[in-house]
Amino acid sequence: MSTNVFDPASASVTVLGLGPMGRALATAFLDAGVRTTVWNRTPGRDAELVARGALTAGSAEEAVAASGLVVVCVVNYDASDAILRRETVTDALKGRTVVNLSADTPARARDTGEWAGRHGVRYLDGAIMTPAPSIGTPDAVFLYSGPRDLYEEHRPVLDVLGGAHTHLGEDIGRAASYDIALLDIFWTAMGGYAHAVAVARAEGISAGELTPFAQGIAAILPPLFEEFAHDVDSGTYSGELNPLTSGASTMAHIVHASEEHGIEASLMRAIEGQARRVIGLGHGADGFMRVAEVLGRTRRP
Ligand code: NDP
Repeated sequence: MSTNVFDPASASVTVLGLGPMGRALATAFLDAGVRTTVWNRTPGRDAELVARGALTAGSAEEAVAASGLVVVCVVNYDASDAILRRETVTDALKGRTVVNLSADTPARARDTGEWAGRHGVRYLDGAIMTPAPSIGTPDAVFLYSGPRDLYEEHRPVLDVLGGAHTHLGEDIGRAASYDIALLDIFWTAMGGYAHAVAVARAEGISAGELTPFAQGIAAILPPLFEEFAHDVDSGTYSGELNPLTSGASTMAHIVHASEEHGIEASLMRAIEGQARRVIGLGHGADGFMRVAEVLGRTRRP
């Protein structure tokens, strides 16, 4: 008979930060039966959670003292610093584990890792790649980086948040590095989509009418990511089926059509500008991903 089955009722967690994501995390812990203590800078955001069984804390220090595992989910690392680096809170954190699921840059994650190391705080960095309603469902995606043994120790309780949990390595900045790359894709796609809808509307096409075709464009992307990753990792960049010169021409059409409607096209102008620069460097017959290689040439060592 196995004695290693995880019993959520034996676990306890503190959630600092009760925005939409912090509330979703706390709800998932509570639903699984984990003893959950919550705290938020602005009081009053915990009412629903307390009604569901959460323990409320009068201060961050008190909240931290309630659990061996402290999950932080606030807007950025200025906010998590404001909470964690107050002397009394730092003292209370000594020997406990902090999992910081707030989003920020890899440099901020590494800086927080160093701070934690200096203060005897056990630290994992993390990122959440799916929206708040996904938490507690199979669709949630969590990324972590930092000491593997610490991750393995807390994995059972983190698993109750649902979905896929991936430890990306010991470099504390690695989860934030993935986060930045993935958010780069997301926000530029959102910027493109919002612009497309504005231009389509100017042409008398509603957002709803565009939807099935927009979904068709989105469906093209997953296999392209795989093919393009191979191009970049192998240094090939074949433009046999779609050379950059042809792509740049369609980018110009988007700029012209937008500006004819008085709709600014700065995002597409920037993308077209990159493509034209790469063509100017003699890569017009290459595929679009040559842009990534050329962008990388200007990077600081
Ligand atoms: P927000 O990003 O709006 O963060 C709100 C939380 O940050 C509140 O608890 C707020 O406290 C706190 N906060 C802000 N400034 C400070 C400060 N100076 N000191 C202390 N606390 C502060 O809401 P979310 O909950 O949505 O997001 C939290 C994190 O999760 C973010 O990093 C976000 O990028 C990430 N995330 C969110 C997703 C989502 O779907 N919402 C999806 C994936 C990641 P107060 O109430 O007092 O203002």
